[in-house]
Amino acid sequence: MTSSDLADVTVAGVSVDTRHFIGGRRVASETTFANTSPIDGSDLGNIARGGEREIDLAVAAAREAFPAWAAMPRAERAAILNRIADLVEERLPELANVETMDNGGLLRSNLRGVMPRVAHNFRFFADWAVTHLKHDDIETRGHTNHVSWDPSGVAGLITPWNAPLMLATWKIAPALAAGDTVVLKPAEWTPLTASLLADICVEAGLPDGVFNLVQGFGREAGAALVAHPGLSRISFTGSVPTAKSIARSAADNLTPCSFELGGKSPCIVLADADLELAAALAVEQYDNAGQVCLSGTRLLVHESIADDFAAAFQAKAATLRQGDPRDPDTDIGPQVHAVHFDRIKGFVDRAEAGGATILMGGSPNADLGGLYFTPTLVGDAARGSEILTQEVFGPVLTMQTFASDDEALELANGTEFGLAAVVVSGDREHAAAITENLVAGTIWVNCFFVRDLRAPFGGSKKSGVGREGGTWSFDFYADVKNTVVAPHGWKE
Ligand code: NAD
Repeated sequence: MTSSDLADVTVAGVSVDTRHFIGGRRVASETTFANTSPIDGSDLGNIARGGEREIDLAVAAAREAFPAWAAMPRAERAAILNRIADLVEERLPELANVETMDNGGLLRSNLRGVMPRVAHNFRFFADWAVTHLKHDDIETRGHTNHVSWDPSGVAGLITPWNAPLMLATWKIAPALAAGDTVVLKPAEWTPLTASLLADICVEAGLPDGVFNLVQGFGREAGAALVAHPGLSRISFTGSVPTAKSIARSAADNLTPCSFELGGKSPCIVLADADLELAAALAVEQYDNAGQVCLSGTRLLVHESIADDFAAAFQAKAATLRQGDPRDPDTDIGPQVHAVHFDRIKGFVDRAEAGGATILMGGSPNADLGGLYFTPTLVGDAARGSEILTQEVFGPVLTMQTFASDDEALELANGTEFGLAAVVVSGDREHAAAITENLVAGTIWVNCFFVRDLRAPFGGSKKSGVGREGGTWSFDFYADVKNTVVAPHGWKE
């Protein structure tokens, strides 16, 4: 079956085109792949399966559109991007419902937090380019250094399934605002909302070829995109092994890469912490069924309060309701895909077989069946074991105790990741002494998930390469240029 045979599917009452979007028009492929909902395994239709041919077409379209888009004044580009934001807000319930069907995330979160953030991504970067993308001139012995951010070309963007449209637009918006054109390859498990965004771009008047979408698998469409010599930038969010493979491909063309990768972040509860707050923050780490790169999945608790903390945590966790993510009372939905579900189960089974204690959960939810895995807490895992060092990316937390700040820091910094950390403390100086010595891109003290798009975002160690957010995004997507003008040689 070719993808032209099945151009549209209806998901949650919304019509979604399952083809690519290249040069302003829909393009079919010779083959398709099946897409199912993690909620109940229902069929969400067949999606165009792109590869080298479609990537070549998309990069060519993006290159053709680049000169005019790059030459457009920033304020005009911003007006179009703000129209996209308006339309995202208008279509917010549709986007939220389709995303929930496609990746199983909570509908209430998609309605209240995730999709509003999609609109905010466009508004923020559009306006930032107009109002903040400037640098004071630098004087050197009468010469003026003038710094500018020039459009760089075509950005190839590759994104994961855990917050599909939000993470894609966190890249698309700054790239477009910088004057680049874009080819997006979204995750194959969650292809739908990117296609709705293509419709929105048309309606907003984005010129043809400025935003292009190629659906397909990572090893096919994704690999073809990152190997393409026509790209000026690659921005990738996903796993470490994929980033390594992308870096190898990008090396041939010396294409600059930005990588936002996995984590194994600590949630450190100091002896002076407010226990109720600590328990509440720890339970929040199950957000999105644990499929959040930033989750503080390793609970590190001072030994003097470990029993009280565990009791408070378990009491709070027991109130979580697992079920259909469309139900507003649901706190934890399904995992995204059977392959991922099995991976999570494998981690937990091996931890138990290796002598760890399952303090809570630890198995598929017998009542719900399907892809619902119960919120899990693992204790007594052996130091260095995989459950303490590798990213599970599911509703699985571990608990360890420490006796001193030094030990807390040794445990916290003791993985190859450095994406985020949560610190819970009642003492500002104590908290500061810990945060100063943590290796992480983002640290939350007595809070979690507070994000401001003006702030830098990224990971240390294997959690990433580079920072995005505010001007950091433009430093990546644009060509930063310094023009040095002499005081002499002028005819005036
Ligand atoms: P993944 O690396 O398997 O896939 C991510 C994307 O890469 C998908 O679109 C996939 O099709 C594509 N891909 C796969 N192989 C490819 C290849 N050889 N060449 C080009 N593209 C390829 O990751 P995932 O399982 O989809 O996502 C989960 C991972 O993403 C976790 O590690 C998570 O921590 C990470 N993540 C990080 C952040 C962050 O901001 N740091 C945010 C969300 C998720």
